[in-house]
Parts: sequence; structure tokens; C-alpha cells
Amino acid sequence: MVAFSVDLVTFPWLASLELCWACGEVITDHVIRALERAYHLSCFTCATCKQEIGEQAFAQGEVGEVYCLRDYYRKYAPKCNACNKLIIPKEDGTDSYNVQCLGNSYHENCYRCEVCVIQLSPEPNEHGCYPLEGKLLCKTCHLNLVSGQH
Ligand SMILES: [Zn+2]
Ligand SMILES: [Zn+2]
Ligand SMILES: [Zn+2]
Ligand SMILES: [Zn+2]
Repeated sequence: MVAFSVDLVTFPWLASLELCWACGEVITDHVIRALERAYHLSCFTCATCKQEIGEQAFAQGEVGEVYCLRDYYRKYAPKCNACNKLIIPKEDGTDSYNVQCLGNSYHENCYRCEVCVIQLSPEPNEHGCYPLEGKLLCKTCHLNLVSGQH
């Protein structure tokens, strides 16, 4: 996920030839430049909540529409298969680790063996995940289950 920020340009004589990407009208006032496009300040809004994004961080959706980060994550963030909450970056902007296994996404902290609840490593090592029949398992529990099946 990449968050963009905006350069506010306040030169009307430069702006006068630009068309707004959202409404198609000439921009004679402040130009918002984002994603190599130009917008009216009032047209550069979140596709979901319609709030002006201004100089806030935002993200781009599938067809070029923009979202405030909160709505972007609501729409696009993967859901953790263990706790059912969205996997979104923390308040300080660092990405929360999204572990993918068996086609599902997990918070790093939710990526645990389903039997003994030990936290699994996203790396394919001794402490990694040894899935069996769609279950996340640590190596020990995997081996126990396999030997128990005989
Ligand atoms: Zn516009
Ligand atoms: Zn929004
Ligand atoms: Zn989770
Ligand atoms: Zn285990």
C-alpha cells in the first residue's frame, strides 16, 4: 500500500489551463496536484465520505478514485482470518505485518498454531507454519496430528 501526499499549488496563472480530473471544468483557483492529475480543491474528495482530502494522506482505488485513508482501508484492507478485524497500518503509519497463508491474511500477532496457540513465524523455518487440512499448525502439532492419524 502506498499513501500519497499532495502538493498544493497556488499560482492561478499556471493553473488556468488545467482541467479538473473529477469534474472536467477549468481550474482557476488553487490546483490540487495528485497522481499526475489536477483537481479543484473542492473536487479532490474521498469517494466514500466526500470529505475534502486537502493535504491529508490518501490512497488510490481500483479505477483511479481517491479515498481518505480510513475509507480506503475499510474498502481494501484485508481481513484477518483469525480475529476478523481489518489489517491496517498502525496509528504511527507503520504497516502492521500482514501474513498470508493458505490464501488467507493474518495479523502478525494472530498468526498462531490453532492447537497450542504458539505464535508462528512468517518465515519458512522451524517456527513457521506447517498447515494441515486447512489448519494453521506449528511443526510440533503438525507432527502430533500426523502421527495420531495412524
Ligand atoms: Zn473540479
Ligand atoms: Zn473518506
Ligand atoms: Zn487478527
Ligand atoms: Zn502447535
